[in-house]
Amino acid sequence: MPTIKELKQDLASYKDEDVVAYALWGVADVFQRARELRYKCTKEQAEKILERVHDNQDCEYGITWPSLDFFDAEDINCEKLPPAKCPFCGDEVEDQGQFDDPSSYYCWKCQKEVEPVFSQEVKA
Ligand SMILES: [Zn+2]
Repeated sequence: MPTIKELKQDLASYKDEDVVAYALWGVADVFQRARELRYKCTKEQAEKILERVHDNQDCEYGITWPSLDFFDAEDINCEKLPPAKCPFCGDEVEDQGQFDDPSSYYCWKCQKEVEPVFSQEVKA
């Protein structure tokens, strides 16, 4: 599993003033993506996902939000939550909250923040 310790060893070949481009993905990012796609993961599952992402990253495109989508992988198997739906129109609503912030759901059809209902049932 890739760790910060290994990253620091890789960085030892650089000088402090070297200019680089970098992006770092952590469990907070996995939790955010999971919330957006209505999955519930443990820290251990998120770490497995990060390891999978690291091992499978595309050298052409790097790591992107969809790169994290191993929630259904057989050996990871995060819990799939029911969709969040607008209580007024029944459309699926998206969690607009950030990782540390409280959830905030917005219905684009009704054009307002809503308190969603969580159900597998589709309204007619
Ligand atoms: Zn609505």
